[in-house]
Amino acid sequence: MLTPIKPLHCSSISRVLLLFSFDSFCSLSSSKPNHKFKFYSVAPQILTETNRWSSSNRASHGFYSSLLQDCVYQKAIKPGKQIHARLLQMGFGYDPILATKLVNLYAIYCDSLPFARKLFDKIPKRNIFLWNVLIRGYAWNGPLEEALNLYYDLLKLGLKPDNFTLPFVLKACSGLTAVKAGEEIHEHAIMIGWASDIFVGAALIDMYAKCGIVRKSREVFDSMHKRDVVVWNSMIAAYGQNGYPLGALNLCREMAASGVRMVTVATLVTILSASASHGAMGMGREIHGHAWRHGFDGQDKVRTALIDMYAKCGLVRVARRLFDGLSEKRVISWNAMIAGYGMHGHACEAMAMFDEMKKSAAEPDHVTFVGVLSACSHGGMINEGQGIYDSMTRDYGIEPRVEHYTCMISLLGHSGRLQEATDLILGMPVKPDSGIWGALLSSCKLHNNVVLGELALEKLIELEPDDAGNYVLLSNLYAQTGNWEGVAKMRLLMKEKGLKKSIACSWIEFKGKVHAFLAGDISHPKSDEIYMELETLGGLMKQLGYVVDTGSVFHDVEDDEKSSMVCSHSERLAIGFGLISTGLGSSLLVTKNLSVCNDCHTWIKFVSKIAEREIVVRDVNRYHHFKDGSCSCGDYW
Ligand code: ZN
Ligand code: ZN
Repeated sequence: MLTPIKPLHCSSISRVLLLFSFDSFCSLSSSKPNHKFKFYSVAPQILTETNRWSSSNRASHGFYSSLLQDCVYQKAIKPGKQIHARLLQMGFGYDPILATKLVNLYAIYCDSLPFARKLFDKIPKRNIFLWNVLIRGYAWNGPLEEALNLYYDLLKLGLKPDNFTLPFVLKACSGLTAVKAGEEIHEHAIMIGWASDIFVGAALIDMYAKCGIVRKSREVFDSMHKRDVVVWNSMIAAYGQNGYPLGALNLCREMAASGVRMVTVATLVTILSASASHGAMGMGREIHGHAWRHGFDGQDKVRTALIDMYAKCGLVRVARRLFDGLSEKRVISWNAMIAGYGMHGHACEAMAMFDEMKKSAAEPDHVTFVGVLSACSHGGMINEGQGIYDSMTRDYGIEPRVEHYTCMISLLGHSGRLQEATDLILGMPVKPDSGIWGALLSSCKLHNNVVLGELALEKLIELEPDDAGNYVLLSNLYAQTGNWEGVAKMRLLMKEKGLKKSIACSWIEFKGKVHAFLAGDISHPKSDEIYMELETLGGLMKQLGYVVDTGSVFHDVEDDEKSSMVCSHSERLAIGFGLISTGLGSSLLVTKNLSVCNDCHTWIKFVSKIAEREIVVRDVNRYHHFKDGSCSCGDYW
């Protein structure tokens, strides 16, 4: 079925009106007012008329050319095909100008790409525009390799790519993360003098960023003499996508200072999501201010990115205020808010929000269900979760995807129903991925189930043999159950494979700067003061009954040593820094790349009570809100 196409623009309407100055127009216009014409609905009439015109030798090359141009403009593929058939009958089929327009039209849709290719192959004289059109078609719709193949064919024929060819083919490299090919094209672009062109430059920046080499993106950026807003945005996005929110923000400031009108929705959303993923709220707030000054804060996409940012930075209440202020609540906004509540363990709020959404005009989609199910999983709401999971397919016709299964595995697993979780995995119609087995392995660690834990690890090793985190999880499970032989076995396995435990890192933002800490770190300028603060806190805690729990220490070492290892875990250093740097009563937000260990969890509870602070710790799994000696997760993570 054809999708409706937007009403004809003026020139087309006048042209159609011109065409329909025959009987057919009268009958057509009497049934439908002409301003509501859809192109596809009038196309058959166009063809009738063209038949009549051509039979009386009045149809010209120019006439078909402009008609096809309209088809391209309207993306009207069906009329285009009918015109194509007509042209073939008339012997115009491979006329270079008309055929180029047809290829251009077909190359817009993936379904029609084979037509475009067939036609392309039959055109005897192909100019660079024609090549570009087809390369673009493949770069947009895939297979991406075809875009690269065409590029090499073009070079073999001795044709010179231009500043359209190169961005398209670089886009294909980005999609394939084919950095080698990308580098080759980069070299070629330098050779033929296109490397500092703004289109090519932006595409190179994007290609390197997508391949994870942000340093090369920056090199390209720095080498460009002229930069427009697109180039700046590409570089900002490069930082954002690769986890350098500070780089993104600094560049944003530079961009504003250089006089380029800074804001585009894309830039704002990029930096907001970079801030969100790094818990860099100060930065996020600055961008919020920026958005507000430039009048962008009311835009749906920006609003939703703001909701997501505040939620991820621990300010769910602010997120909610923004949500409530939305004039039109779209699915993405509901999803951001539901996920926000879920992450923070506010399962009831997430459920209430979901109920409200069901009553609204927005239809829940598969992302919504991921949000609600993960909220249930974080909140341990097993029955509710099961009910929602069942209703997803029954009432909304959404087939469960891997993400939904992951939520269910972790919901069942966390509740201790490990066998049921395993059965669900084994009965899945899709192949379980590492997320699924990872969820089972964490649950096994939570409930000390070595047998299923080993099964999960076996599968995980098949899927991602080089991820040290999996071995560490099982090793921790062995350590928890006092199985030091198992710990040694894991350590040996890791050594054999040359794997290192990923380094734990926690960070906290203070006055717009992100301060990062590793375990046992003494490199921070305020290190002495931080350790002093931790010692003072330690003393006070002991009086209140805190005892170091060394169970989660990976190594088989003496208790004394274990306790000193736990005591300098990275999140403690970040919290220590937060306490000495901020005023009494202000809350702290710490982000950690791994999960919080049992002992640190207890320790932070004590700190929240002693220092009378609200401490939010966002670890790899969820958010923990520590207040008055307890945590929002209810010790369930
Ligand atoms: Zn710890
Ligand atoms: Zn917690």
